[in-house]
Amino acid sequence: MTKREGAIVRTGRLAVYDAPGKPFEIRAFPVRRPRAGEVLVKIRMSTICRSDIHSYLGHRPNPCPGVLGHEIIGNIVALGEGITHDMRGDPLAAGDRITWSEYFIPGPNYYTEVLDLPQKSPGVDKYGHMAVTTEPHHHGGFGEYCYVLPQSWILKLPAELTDEEATPINCGVATMICVTERAEIGVGDAVVIQGLGLLGLYGAAIAKARGARLVIGLDTVGARRAMSARFGVDRALDPSAMSETELVRQVRAFCKPEGADAVIEVCGYPEVIPAGIQYLRTGGRYVLGGVVNPDSFVRIDANQLLRKLITLRGVHNYHPRNLIEALDFVHANRKRFPFHDLVDGKYKLEEVGRAMKDAEDRRVLRAAIVP
Ligand SMILES: [Zn+2]
Repeated sequence: MTKREGAIVRTGRLAVYDAPGKPFEIRAFPVRRPRAGEVLVKIRMSTICRSDIHSYLGHRPNPCPGVLGHEIIGNIVALGEGITHDMRGDPLAAGDRITWSEYFIPGPNYYTEVLDLPQKSPGVDKYGHMAVTTEPHHHGGFGEYCYVLPQSWILKLPAELTDEEATPINCGVATMICVTERAEIGVGDAVVIQGLGLLGLYGAAIAKARGARLVIGLDTVGARRAMSARFGVDRALDPSAMSETELVRQVRAFCKPEGADAVIEVCGYPEVIPAGIQYLRTGGRYVLGGVVNPDSFVRIDANQLLRKLITLRGVHNYHPRNLIEALDFVHANRKRFPFHDLVDGKYKLEEVGRAMKDAEDRRVLRAAIVP
C-alpha cells in the first residue's frame, strides 16, 4: 500500500511581484489538501527561464500580483483523488520526486481530439502565469509549494538524475525536443542554431543525438560559444564580429555542398531570420522557437522561401509526448553532455530579485531558486 499523503502545512511562502519591475516580496498563502485531479508538491528547485524575465520586465502580459516560475521539480506531499499514476503508467506516492508539463488544459477539446495539438487547447494556462490571488495561489515555481493542477502531465524522475539535470526538462529540454522534431533533424544533417543560451545548447546536444553530422552555433556571448563545444557544437561563430554577408558566406562554406539542412532560431531576435533563410540549402527547414514576444516584426524576401522550397515552422509549447522524450534524452545522455553544469547559479527564495537580475544580465546561464 503506497502512501498517498504526507503531513500538510497550513501556509507556504511565495515570492510575489505586484507589477512588472517591482521588487519581489515574500508572502504566505494558505495551503490546503489537494482536490480531485490535483497534486500538492513541495518544491525542490525552480529554474529561471528567459520567458520569466520577459514577463517580469513587462515585455508580454502576465497577470499581477504574480508568482513566476514554470521549470519546477518537487516531491509529492499529497495526491488528490483520481491521481494514481504518472503519464507513463508508473505508480505515484507521497515523497516521489516529479516533473510535470509547464501547462495544463481545461479538458478534452477539438485540439486534443482532432488536431493532436493539446498544447494549444483553448484555455490552456501555464504555471507561473496566473495572478497569485487565483486559488490555489501556489501555481508558480518561486515558492515552497506548488499544486500540479488537473489536466497536467506528470512524470516520476529517475533517482540518478540530479535536481540540476531534472529541473529544466519540462520547459528547456522538452521545447527543444519539439523544435528539433519539427526541424526533422536526422542522420547526416548540417544544422545551424541561432542563439547558444540554454535552449541552443540543449538543441545542439539533441541534434547530435538525432544524428546530425555538423552543428554550427551562433551567439555574441563569448562564454556561451566557449562552452558550446561540450554540448555538441562543432563550430561557434560570433555574428557581431562580421557582416551578415560574411556570416552567411562562412556558414554556407561549412555546410557543404549546398547549405544547412535545418536552421533553428532560439535567440529571440527576429532580425536574424533573413540571414537564417540564407544559410539553408534548397528544400531546407527553418524552425522558430525563440521569438516569443508579440510584435516580432521582420522583413523577409518571400520569393526566397518560394524559390528555395523552404519549410518554415513555429513551435510554441510542446506536445505532452515531448516531455517523456525530454526526460529519456537527458537520462540517456547525461554522461555524454554536462547538463548538470548548465544550472550555474543557486539562490534562496528571498534572493529571487537578485537571481532574476543575474539571469537578465546573462551573468548565469540558468539560475535556480532552491526554497
Ligand atoms: Zn520556459
